Amino acid sequence: MYDVVVIGAGPAGSTATRYLAKKGLKVCIIDKDSFPRDKPCGGGFSTSLIEEFPYLRKRIDDFLKGIARIGVLHSPNRRVVLQGKVDMALVLRIDFDNVLFECALEQGVDSYIGTRAKRIKFHQDYSEIELASGTSIKGAVVLGTDGVSSIVAREAGLQRRWPKTNITACRVVEVPARNEEILDRYTDDLIYHFYANLGGLPGYGWIFPKQDTINIGLGIVGTHAQGLPRLFHSFVRYLKRENLLMKNADLSSVRGGLVPTGGPVKKSYVDRCLLVGDAAGMVSPLTGGGIAYAMKAARFASMVLVSTYDESLPTENALWQYERMWRNEFGNEFKEQLLAQKLFTGPFTDLLFEIGRRDKQIQEMVSESMSESSDSELDIKKLLLRTLLVCLRGSLRR
Ligand SMILES: Cc1cc2nc3c(=O)[nH]c(=O)nc-3n(C[C@H](O)[C@H](O)[C@H](O)COP(=O)(O)OP(=O)(O)OC[C@H]3O[C@@H](n4cnc5c(N)ncnc54)[C@H](O)[C@@H]3O)c2cc1C
Repeated sequence: MYDVVVIGAGPAGSTATRYLAKKGLKVCIIDKDSFPRDKPCGGGFSTSLIEEFPYLRKRIDDFLKGIARIGVLHSPNRRVVLQGKVDMALVLRIDFDNVLFECALEQGVDSYIGTRAKRIKFHQDYSEIELASGTSIKGAVVLGTDGVSSIVAREAGLQRRWPKTNITACRVVEVPARNEEILDRYTDDLIYHFYANLGGLPGYGWIFPKQDTINIGLGIVGTHAQGLPRLFHSFVRYLKRENLLMKNADLSSVRGGLVPTGGPVKKSYVDRCLLVGDAAGMVSPLTGGGIAYAMKAARFASMVLVSTYDESLPTENALWQYERMWRNEFGNEFKEQLLAQKLFTGPFTDLLFEIGRRDKQIQEMVSESMSESSDSELDIKKLLLRTLLVCLRGSLRR
């Protein structure tokens, strides 16, 4: 029997597996896909994540496809542009997730790859995981790192299906491009673009220029998702018109994906089971970024599991510490970003941009917070106060 069975080998699962095995626990990792596998994604996150997980530095050449130094944020009517300095690492998920997976395997863990976890039976003192291949695995603890449609969340009774309001449906494509085609359009600062509420629908669009590819994506909140194919099409047309994309761009590899953008689950643990990453809804409601949260929460989960390992069995009483740790670290960020999401997807978004255009401080606050590279959470109260101040100043000058 394993000490911990990790279901899902994305950033959350591979990170947790590596830490747990390094501390001497008997771990196995399961994924329905074979590796290297490509997850539909923008592939942008703060460069500080690489410092926080130092073992990544050694493998940096295997995954880094550039660093964006400037972020540009476009208003819904595209008349106002806010710009800020950022440090966003750009990767292809096929490489990045594979590096994380290999770092986990290096610790000598068992892996069950290319087979789906079909059913989980929680018994009194162990769990039994039934795989699609017919194999059955037993573990003292189950780690649910199986992403947005988590079977673990469902079977543990922690989260059923996400309501449409809490999901963003995306289309994304990695467009192959020559170096000069990228530099001409995005300079060697690899300027990235973020579009609020394209077509007046709640959501966002992005361009992440990388080495050899330009990543184009669009996400719309689930309640409006039927408009996604049409809007993606007109987004691409617009980008071509603006010369942000080549006229002959190869869009043959467009893919769909879901992100939980309605804030985290109410509870991320039960007896002998934890949820981590997208399975627990740990994603920025504002930008849809979740790689960093997944990896940081995975480390918290591992720390708690290692510390409770000597106890008989990690029950809720011990595992709540995991929830305390991640909520302390980024629980408030999710709350603030949810509030900001409401503001930025509301009817006054263009007006907010107009006000922001007049003030450098607002420009920096907004632009940096919209980027995956921001480590400072968006202080929504400060932003609103600053906006009021700019309005007041403007009216006094009249
Ligand atoms: C279009 C799009 C763009 C995004 N862009 C960004 C971005 O630029 N930056 C950013 O930080 N985040 C981005 N995200 C979010 C980011 O992809 C996730 O937050 C991140 O992947 C979460 O990691 P995870 O390990 O929790 O889940 P995942 O990466 O989804 O990994 C879950 C794993 O579980 C496996 N799995 C699922 N079900 C089962 C099962 N039953 N049995 C076995 N295995 C299973 C899957 O195959 C998968 O490998 C984007 C998401 C989408 C959809």
